[in-house]
Amino acid sequence: MIVDLKKAISLIRDGDVVAIPTETVYGLAGDAKNALAVQKIFNTKGRPADNPLIVHISSIDQLHDFAESIPDDALQLADKFWPGPLTLILKRKPAVLDIVTAGLDTVAIRMPNHPIALKLIQKTGPVTAPSANRSGKPSPTNPEHIKQDYGTNLPILDGGKTDVGIESTVLDLSELPYRILRPGVISKEELSTFLGQPIERETANRKSPGTRHTHYKPTASVKWLDERQSIIKSHKTFYILHHKEFANLPENAIHFRENYQEFARLLYDLYRTADQKGFSQILIEPFTNSPSHPLIDAIINRIQHSVNK
Ligand code: AMP
Ligand code: MG
Repeated sequence: MIVDLKKAISLIRDGDVVAIPTETVYGLAGDAKNALAVQKIFNTKGRPADNPLIVHISSIDQLHDFAESIPDDALQLADKFWPGPLTLILKRKPAVLDIVTAGLDTVAIRMPNHPIALKLIQKTGPVTAPSANRSGKPSPTNPEHIKQDYGTNLPILDGGKTDVGIESTVLDLSELPYRILRPGVISKEELSTFLGQPIERETANRKSPGTRHTHYKPTASVKWLDERQSIIKSHKTFYILHHKEFANLPENAIHFRENYQEFARLLYDLYRTADQKGFSQILIEPFTNSPSHPLIDAIINRIQHSVNK
């Protein structure tokens, strides 16, 4: 059910959950300081309890309510990239609810770059807001996706289509060396150039519990296209292409022609649309010969999670 900003604020103040737009994907928001509200988020999504949530704030001051021993680098990054799609992992204050951090000694925080989300948080105070999909499904990038997962009862604050389309970059600043736990539109190179120091890319999934769980999966099976395969007209297969030219593409194919921003923006929508249209498989062109682009690491990361192994 679509609600206006005033209603969304009162629901969150009352300990309820509301799907809210951000610049990355829609989040399922609840009061970050109310354990029952946070529990409601886990229950609604069916999210495993060991997968911590990101606290969304509307002013840099609020950082100090949740984090301590904040390195100067964190403040510089916040100054430069917030509001924006960058989540910082910092040492947590003892008062932060255990349910938010899944019992870890760190907390994830970001300031979303979306006028509606910021207006809401200014009134409600910080919210935790994991992606508003049912656990395991692709993140929602418009209100229709949320209705697909929950029907019409869940309150939704409508902000149209999200701009970035994939989730924030997660950067762990809680110990050295700093590490990217989840790649996003703000790339490792951009961050390490800004900080003037190398940043590692966590690949072992040692620190971010969320990366271990099933994620971003449509009902259709997702596979990498074998580049020797031709693109055929079919009711079963939907193709996502981005680089190599193919002659006479049928309607069951989309070609991004190296527009990787658009690729990220539409990826989850294509997954869900393929399901709605009854395609049973999605074949995606691999990135072996594509040009380098800051978004490709994040796009491959999301596709790898959806690929049927
Ligand atoms: P979502 O909000 O659904 O996009 O997921 C949030 C992501 O941030 C998940 O991958 C979590 O595992 C990760 N995350 C949240 N808090 C922490 C933390 N304290 N340490 C490491 N990763 C975290
Ligand atoms: Mg998620």
